[in-house]
Amino acid sequence: MPTTVPTPPLLQVEDLRVAFDTPDGTVEAVSGVSFSVGAQETVAVVGESGSGKTVTALAVLQLLDGGRISGGRVLWDGEDLAALDRRALRRVRGNEIAMIFQDPMSSLDPLYSVGHQIVEALRLHRRISKREARERAAELLEQVGMPDPRRRLASFPHQLSGGQRQRVMIAIALACSPRLLIADEPTTALDVTIEAQILELLGDLQREYRSAMLLVTHDMGVVAETADRVVVFYAGQVVEQGATADVLRDPQHPYTAALLDAMPTPGTDRAQPLAAIPGSVPPLRAMPSGCRFHTRCTLAWDECGREEPVLHELPGDRGARCLLHRPGQERPLRAAVTTKGA
Ligand code: SF4
Repeated sequence: MPTTVPTPPLLQVEDLRVAFDTPDGTVEAVSGVSFSVGAQETVAVVGESGSGKTVTALAVLQLLDGGRISGGRVLWDGEDLAALDRRALRRVRGNEIAMIFQDPMSSLDPLYSVGHQIVEALRLHRRISKREARERAAELLEQVGMPDPRRRLASFPHQLSGGQRQRVMIAIALACSPRLLIADEPTTALDVTIEAQILELLGDLQREYRSAMLLVTHDMGVVAETADRVVVFYAGQVVEQGATADVLRDPQHPYTAALLDAMPTPGTDRAQPLAAIPGSVPPLRAMPSGCRFHTRCTLAWDECGREEPVLHELPGDRGARCLLHRPGQERPLRAAVTTKGA
């Protein structure tokens, strides 16, 4: 597992709120989320679908479709991204922050060869000739492990496998040597062998390019293999955060413990890694009162349905949003929150 090297934050998300206006009223998909990513650091945002992690990633790049930032700030190198004009924002996107999406087929244009698309990405942000860009595109394809990269420049997305398309997306993301790579479930659509190769590739390239990475995933196995720090999301809130090694060894929130319990043991099928947590994330329109996790929490007691927990700061630069951490709380947390592997 990677070791943590504390560095000043490159990206700082402060008390972020994201709202969507619907015909039935406004709903909040992200409710007061804060975390940071340091230079060259890998931070994983983990949680089930509907937890707000992808919306948060899109909000960082001001790419919300139909939603808006209704509170808080996103600071990039100390600069508030919401205050930038379109031109400055375009400079940051792609030049400094690049995003890799879950489904490369929906991000690549089926009408153009992959070479054309990498060349376009290069020329959008750099003053280089077409010939130089094509040369660089071939180099990038080679770097991301594409077999026969020069010939592949002429391929169209449908002529490539899922893993190869994701390699093209990574090449496009790397085209301008970003300082931060945001990868949203980059391996979810791939089989386990290709997933391992892509994760390894991302790690190698991240070291080579000295980039930071914000990795969005639902898979604690991916977190364990890649991240320095982890931020656990549930129902639009951060419920736990800390160094990956600490969180995996000693989770301080019942939801994190449940995620870890749901992790398949090595050698078993990883297709449904979260199936073991009963119930599902509550819909935005019907958030329960009190702790948002209380309807699924095996440790809940009556107060959990009434009082909304705050994110308690814990030793070791950690935090957990659970009433069990209230000062003076007598419930025996350490005995209660434990995983099968602990
Ligand atoms: Fe469970 Fe209560 Fe803690 Fe919520 S506050 S996670 S319901 S113990």
